[in-house]
Amino acid sequence: MGANKKLLIAHFGELWLRGRNRNVYIKMLKKNIMSQLKGERFRLEDMYDRLALRLDADSDLNSIKSKISNIFGISAYEVAYSTKPDIKHIVSTSKALLKECGAKSVRIHAHRSYKGFKFNSMDIIRRLVVAAEKIGVDPCIKDFEKELYVSVTKDEAFVYMERIRGSGGLPVGSSGKCIVLLSGGIDSPVAAWYAMKRGLFPVYLHVHGFSSNKEAMDSKISRITRILSKYSAGCSAYYVPSHIFQLGAMKSGRYELVLMKSFMLSLAESVAKKEGADCIVTGESLGQVASQTIHNIAAEESGIKIPIMRPLIGFDKVEITEQAKRLGTFEESIKPYRDVCSINSKNPATRADVSTVKELAAGMNMRKVVRRSLRMASMAAPNQDENGGFRQK
Ligand code: ATP
Ligand code: MG
Repeated sequence: MGANKKLLIAHFGELWLRGRNRNVYIKMLKKNIMSQLKGERFRLEDMYDRLALRLDADSDLNSIKSKISNIFGISAYEVAYSTKPDIKHIVSTSKALLKECGAKSVRIHAHRSYKGFKFNSMDIIRRLVVAAEKIGVDPCIKDFEKELYVSVTKDEAFVYMERIRGSGGLPVGSSGKCIVLLSGGIDSPVAAWYAMKRGLFPVYLHVHGFSSNKEAMDSKISRITRILSKYSAGCSAYYVPSHIFQLGAMKSGRYELVLMKSFMLSLAESVAKKEGADCIVTGESLGQVASQTIHNIAAEESGIKIPIMRPLIGFDKVEITEQAKRLGTFEESIKPYRDVCSINSKNPATRADVSTVKELAAGMNMRKVVRRSLRMASMAAPNQDENGGFRQK
């Protein structure tokens, strides 16, 4: 492809583009691209209603593509060649691309955003039809193997054959911050991904049963947060020990699990205040395990004042599992782990009563338990230098 320069052209999701906050969103998206692609060689530029990532000769295209595919707020992107905006260069670049891809048939599209260009889109297509036939590629509009796109602007023309779907959604951070209750299981990492997809920046909170925070921070939980950093870099994680709660809840019998969830939500609410987060996210779905009933959910969340999002509420386990595999968290999630909820879940109450939960919580002085537990918590802060790695504080 000689002197032609390669670039990625990223398109925004259309919905939010029309809103009044357009510039804020684009700024956020650019910031996210810069942090997710840290270490890659590219130059980010505004390009009309798109973004251009200009590549160097030594840019790692495959690595950049796989990272861009995970960034929310990009609906699609193209891997394009930039050439001079004249018909000679457009034709020669198109021919080279067609030869390179080896397709026998092609559908040709042309678009001219710069009306000063003396060829209109039909003229461009006609020239390209002739050029394609010359090299033995059949131009057609049905049953084609590949598509060729040409887009002409004032300063350059873009030629590409590869249009790739992005993750869609909203730029992470554009909807605010959330506290994700992260367990060692399959569901909550998937819930975190959906929250990020809708523009929430996650801060993770994990409650563990180890004798030290260090052990929890060295466990698979930090590996899960590292995998999730593919979708949003720079997220912190709180590790809170459960032993103070467990001592207090010893006499709560079948209500222990409901109380544990209520404890976790209270912790999340306190951390939300500290972090300036607006809501809590959990991986609960309805009826997936015996304890996930609407009565229990109501009892657990009573007294919590900020919204609790449950992105997986209507998903069944098969759907969640498939998504976890796509996200890359499944393998870690199925590794053995003694989650505090599974330790406590022998024959749990399934129709918890709000007033009983309140009584039990008051009896064990839940507020104090939350305060003391948080005092014993550790936070793993994101290591900005390592793009997603975590440094212990
Ligand atoms: P998961 O697969 O996410 O563990 P689950 O189907 O096992 O979910 P539960 O164990 O009832 O269901 O947990 C429901 C939700 O409670 C989790 O998705 C998570 O948001 C939160 N949660 C459970 N255990 C913990 C924990 N140890 N620390 C923080 N949050 C937790
Ligand atoms: Mg679980």
